Amino acid sequence: MVSAEGIRKSYGRLPVLNGVSLEIKTGEVCCLLGPSGAGKSTLLRCVNHLESIDGGQLVVDGEVIGYREKSGKLYEMHGRDIARQRASIGMVFQHFNLYPHMTAEQNVSLAQVAVHQQGKVEARNRSRELLERVGLGSKAGKYPRQLSGGEQQRVAIARALAISPKLILFDEPTSALDPELVGEVLETIRAVASEGITMMVVTHEIGFAREVADRVVFMDGGVVVEQGPPGEVLEAPAEGRTRAFLERVL
Ligand code: ATP
Ligand code: MG
Repeated sequence: MVSAEGIRKSYGRLPVLNGVSLEIKTGEVCCLLGPSGAGKSTLLRCVNHLESIDGGQLVVDGEVIGYREKSGKLYEMHGRDIARQRASIGMVFQHFNLYPHMTAEQNVSLAQVAVHQQGKVEARNRSRELLERVGLGSKAGKYPRQLSGGEQQRVAIARALAISPKLILFDEPTSALDPELVGEVLETIRAVASEGITMMVVTHEIGFAREVADRVVFMDGGVVVEQGPPGEVLEAPAEGRTRAFLERVL
């Protein structure tokens, strides 16, 4: 479903991704771990072309992301083409980025109406269903300020699901939450994962990665240091850098 090959990306003169390669199969949950500055967020942002890349290739569901080949040359996509690709990729951020002047239900409906041209009634019914699914059936009419951080993040997850994505990207979905709210959001992500949606999840929650990930990717310094099933990478890491990181966070 996701294939990254030799991804390179610099911000000005600062190289941030130095040839990242990974493969994620359909239905797999891939957890990305690594120290601050490793390039985890940058990689996620490249996957839905919020950032352009300087080298390599990203393919999602058989389609090259962000670029089109024409007479042997690559051209960057713009406007409608990139919007079309993004329409099948959900994204959940650390800070929920809900629209403050819209209710939970309106936040979830928005992309269905704007991007997928669904009728308003249909979108509203689907939003209610999705809010029900993340345990917020009774909060559909609330505004973000009337919801806890954990509830807001669950609305953001419902919103990501509303576009029926092939892939969902999560960037530290629980890092901004009070500790007592982390569990409910992880539980929601776990439930979504069990339905077979392909996911890339940047997280510092090692316990979550151990339980839910099919594949764990450890990044440092803009490269993949080590990847594999959680039982290998987390329990018996082959690389010193992975071991040092796990000792720090566990
Ligand atoms: P964290 O765990 O702190 O979120 P990360 O692994 O997500 O870290 P990135 O956010 O991808 O790391 O950042 C990698 C490097 O790129 C850092 O050195 C960061 O300062 C730099 N960087 C990220 N975004 C930009 C930007 N828009 N402009 C310039 N430099 C950036
Ligand atoms: Mg980050």
